[in-house]
Amino acid sequence: MSNRIIITLLALALTSCVAIKVNNQNLPESVDTKSENEHGEGVGETITMPVSIPSTWTVPGGDSKSLRELTWDLMHQKIWIQFDLNRSEVHGKTELRLANLSPDNRSLIIDSKTTDIKSIINVETESPIPFLRDSSTVRITLTDSYNVGDILIIGIEFVSSPPNRGLYFVNPTGVTPNKPTQIWTLGQPEDNSFWLPTVDHPAERTTTEMWISVPEKFTTISNGMLIRSAVESGSELRTDYWVMNKPHAPYLIALAVGEYVSSEFLKDDIIYKYYVEPPFAKHIDAIYAETDEMMQFFNRQLNYKYPWSIYAQVPVRDYIANGMENTTLSIYKEQIQVTTEQSKDVHFRDLLVHELIHHWFGNLVTSKDWANLPLNEGFATYFETIYRDYRDGETDAAWKSILDRNDYFGESKRFRRPIIFDEYNVPEDMYDRHTYEKAALVLRMLHHDVGDEMWWKILNSYLTSNEFDSVDWADLKNEFNSNTGSDYTEFFEQWFLKNGHPEFKVTYNYEGEWPTIRFEQVQDLNKSDVFKTKMILNYSDISHNAYFKEVEITSRDTTFIIPVHSDSTSYLVADPNRIILAEYEENIDMNEAISRLAHSSIMLRYEAVNVLKPLLAQNENLIEILIDAYKYEQYGEQRLHIFRALADYLDHNHLGFIESVNVNSEEYYAIRILTADLSAKIRGINGNTYLNELSKDPSYYVAHHVNSKLSSN
Ligand SMILES: [Zn+2]
Repeated sequence: MSNRIIITLLALALTSCVAIKVNNQNLPESVDTKSENEHGEGVGETITMPVSIPSTWTVPGGDSKSLRELTWDLMHQKIWIQFDLNRSEVHGKTELRLANLSPDNRSLIIDSKTTDIKSIINVETESPIPFLRDSSTVRITLTDSYNVGDILIIGIEFVSSPPNRGLYFVNPTGVTPNKPTQIWTLGQPEDNSFWLPTVDHPAERTTTEMWISVPEKFTTISNGMLIRSAVESGSELRTDYWVMNKPHAPYLIALAVGEYVSSEFLKDDIIYKYYVEPPFAKHIDAIYAETDEMMQFFNRQLNYKYPWSIYAQVPVRDYIANGMENTTLSIYKEQIQVTTEQSKDVHFRDLLVHELIHHWFGNLVTSKDWANLPLNEGFATYFETIYRDYRDGETDAAWKSILDRNDYFGESKRFRRPIIFDEYNVPEDMYDRHTYEKAALVLRMLHHDVGDEMWWKILNSYLTSNEFDSVDWADLKNEFNSNTGSDYTEFFEQWFLKNGHPEFKVTYNYEGEWPTIRFEQVQDLNKSDVFKTKMILNYSDISHNAYFKEVEITSRDTTFIIPVHSDSTSYLVADPNRIILAEYEENIDMNEAISRLAHSSIMLRYEAVNVLKPLLAQNENLIEILIDAYKYEQYGEQRLHIFRALADYLDHNHLGFIESVNVNSEEYYAIRILTADLSAKIRGINGNTYLNELSKDPSYYVAHHVNSKLSSN
């Protein structure tokens, strides 16, 4: 992996050179050391850089939220349900086996929203239990007092008509032609209690049995194993009996009902079960390709075998998310169903990785509340990068981090909140780019900091220590501390509990005998702190030997001297792989950007295009330079990035170049779509032989795009 390479080079650099850190106090001509900020850091000279955050930004949210303390532990839940498709109703009964957690306990709260509770009984005595109802809970005052450990089993009869929360009916009466009838659930964060009375709390854990009765034509899919499937005598319905025999959080209870075809195989004691709608039957293996490869990779790297006995995946119509990691049953949006032909160009690998890895980070070890949801989502998002690194190498992995950085930095222009955050209005507020991408990028920093071997050791320890349990950020911090012997408290507090990220104004200066790099933190210090961070400086000497030197930035304004003479340094760059979650504004000129475009990490090549794009309007030569960069670029996403930057500046003079792009010269279909559009724009569609050629392109998407262009002309 890429951090292995850095560590090796760093070791080389450490033996051959020394970078000297210069304190602010040593640079009196440029630094005002008279004042100190509230954190005791020396404050540098006044910064006049525009701050990118508008002064009005606010974090969505309100008061600090804490979930209620659990006074009963839900041990096991039995669920019997059938559906009234005409009325979009769930008719059911359920039994909750509860163990008391608090002394002299006479009260019990069950989560249930918008559900009509018909009756509640004590299952052992069969006596009715009176209850009070509010909009989200059923409150029971028990006649007996319960001691810690006492068991109570209650039975509830209910009818729920969920208002498009928790459980969803798709075309239930079949009135929409060519659209299947389906039923599916999405329980996160606290939506299962819209259709099922339960203890809807992420720190709860229960095993389940579910009997789902449906008309014969439907397939049912739920958590765990299908044990029995039978039509009861005198019934028109078939009842499928599902058992989930390992405990998991109630928000992960799920079902899907519809007309599906499936394929199944057993490998290393894990049952893989794939479902698709019947028209996609022959494409099922292409759609779920690599699931077992991902599984084996995670098993091996985590040294912790997939903790469940089956892994099923199913797409559903009108899904309101991309995917959900219900334990043993990942449910996806319908768009993952592509043909084998389409799958050559389009895949949902990141999504499949994300939901599968949640079965360790999320389902086996679960965030104890929604404030800590970024532990689930940060790992799931970062593992998309890790799997890319394993499968396609560090460039593709880094590209995922580029996308993550763009997503998070984009959102950070609107607001910045701590990753671990309990001041949301509703738990759904947590589904943002801080919970997913920012948390993933902070985990990436930790991975690079501890190195690959220690990273996997820590993850194994985190899973083993917390299996079938719930966690918060401190549990993860403790694993980093105990496994490394270092103290990561400050790191976790800075990155997980405080908001923002460093915005570095980076000034490279070659004027003196020794080059210097100056880092000024120009983020709005009214809204976030001065950050302390390690930083890799990458530079070369006259013989083009590369050095990677780790330094530490601890104040708002820090300058480092590079121990290679200015006239013998061919390049100098901070954080070449953009490991630090920071924005960089560097004083690089056009020539430096051109040089980076040709000779640097994918992160810097990507940024170089962004630096050069605004200069294209005034510089004809730059167009040719970018065309050359396109031709030499090995990585498809970066070629597309270059082409998109060029697109507005290409005209009839460049038709030769544009129309030279075809399936033989360019494997990335999206670029061929772009060249088709450019050719059509410049040359017109009538008599355009290039478009005629691309209309027969082997890519479904290119041919489809060009043919619809031709036919709409
Ligand atoms: Zn997720």
